[in-house]
Amino acid sequence: MAAVEINKTPGSPNVGSDYLLISWSGGSNLTPLLRRARSWAIWDQPDAVRRYVLAVFVVAVATSAATAFLVPVTQTDVVRFGILALCAVVSIEFTRRIEREREYLRSRRVAYVDTKGIWSGAAVLVLPPVLATAMVVFTYGVAWFRVWPSNRPVPHRWLFGAATVLIGTQAAATILTVGMQQHPGLPATELLAGLGDLAVITLALGARWLFNCGLVMAVIALSSPNMPARDLFTGFSQQMLEAGSMALALVSATVLMANPLVLAPVVLAVVVMHRSVLLHQYQAESRTDPKTGLTTVKWWRVGAERAFAAARRTKRPMGLLILDLDKFKGINDTYGHLVGDKVLTVVAQGLLEEVRDQDSCCRWGGEELTVVIPEVESASNLRSIAERIRRRVESLAIYSDEEAGEAQRVPVTASIGAALYPAEGMDSLDDVLRAADTAVYQAKARGRNQVVLAGVAPAASEAATLPGSTTR
Ligand code: GH3
Ligand code: MG
Ligand code: MG
Repeated sequence: MAAVEINKTPGSPNVGSDYLLISWSGGSNLTPLLRRARSWAIWDQPDAVRRYVLAVFVVAVATSAATAFLVPVTQTDVVRFGILALCAVVSIEFTRRIEREREYLRSRRVAYVDTKGIWSGAAVLVLPPVLATAMVVFTYGVAWFRVWPSNRPVPHRWLFGAATVLIGTQAAATILTVGMQQHPGLPATELLAGLGDLAVITLALGARWLFNCGLVMAVIALSSPNMPARDLFTGFSQQMLEAGSMALALVSATVLMANPLVLAPVVLAVVVMHRSVLLHQYQAESRTDPKTGLTTVKWWRVGAERAFAAARRTKRPMGLLILDLDKFKGINDTYGHLVGDKVLTVVAQGLLEEVRDQDSCCRWGGEELTVVIPEVESASNLRSIAERIRRRVESLAIYSDEEAGEAQRVPVTASIGAALYPAEGMDSLDDVLRAADTAVYQAKARGRNQVVLAGVAPAASEAATLPGSTTR
């Protein structure tokens, strides 16, 4: 199961056996129903988002109703539903603590995965569509009440996630009905027919995933138009987990039909292996600076060394920027450290929006950020990128937190040192870093809020380094 936030700030696409919308800012402990409804924050979203979310709900209900009577439900189906529901309850119950820990660890850019989809995926394969629909509703309900009894996700986001899975489930049921030798049921045992059925199942579960993931990503894109497209996509490991969950859905369905008792060890395996999904989160956590969301130095260095080696090999220049916020100590002293922290976060976000996907940014330390820019065309190109970033920082509207009285705009500027490789005397990444570092000091010495390109004499770079210069 995966989740995203529909916030004005970029949320994270979260991938897993289902994609959900969850966020912990909903204040679900507010008692009066009306206040609760208001806290859903769907009302604060732009019209397009509200219309889209509503349309998804309507389609989910309509398609679920349309498939509900396609296949009659037998007593055996009800028993099988009960067995799968029991497996879902046990696996959700025994992974609750992990889920909560994962949510705690989840940072803006970390995907969220769980394994509810195994049981609703199995249901769509071997049960009539109406029971597959019921299994989605049931697993979402159990997780809602058991995983987060006090600190629940915002309801409309949770419901939206469930609605996307319902649509995916109906799409899967339709594909299975049309394509399988027998549906509901397992792949045929004869080799050729069985392979054909497996292909149809892959297509059906793929469709379930595509609807779930696509509809969730669309709402993120709609609600965070400035979010870089790359943030909509999660890593390969998440897609693998998704594929693994769907594979386990088929295994569970097969075991259910052959000998339901054997589902007990399947549930045990699911619970034990669920722990490994934490690994991804720890990994991402260790690579991300929590305050800025940028890469940590250690991880950045791996990519920077790679970019340096590529520049050396291909002879295509590489650029490196070091940004040092001007008089940042003064910002802390005047507005407080919390405002200082906010400045760091907003500057980092602005920086990310000014660079390309392949440019890697890190928090070097304190109020210093570093960017490596592979395949930069020329020194003037590098300068124009740095200038663009400098102007962006200067234009950020960040306000102090005044409890009483008016919030003041916090003046934020940065001095940027830029270095281009190859250049004389540069033989390693450290040489490039040293050159950029020296350039930052020169920018400070020349009055701050400016860009200095390493190795360019002051007279020559004067025009471009004047504060407010519009050189690009
Ligand atoms: P300059 O223009 O010369 O760079 O002046 P400066 O004040 O920015 O430089 P200095 O190195 O003297 O101060 C950096 C300050 O950054 C000091 C430190 O308190 C603050 N700082 C470092 N890390 C953080 C942080 O995570 N949060 C906050 N709020 N402040 C931080
Ligand atoms: Mg500094
Ligand atoms: Mg500074």
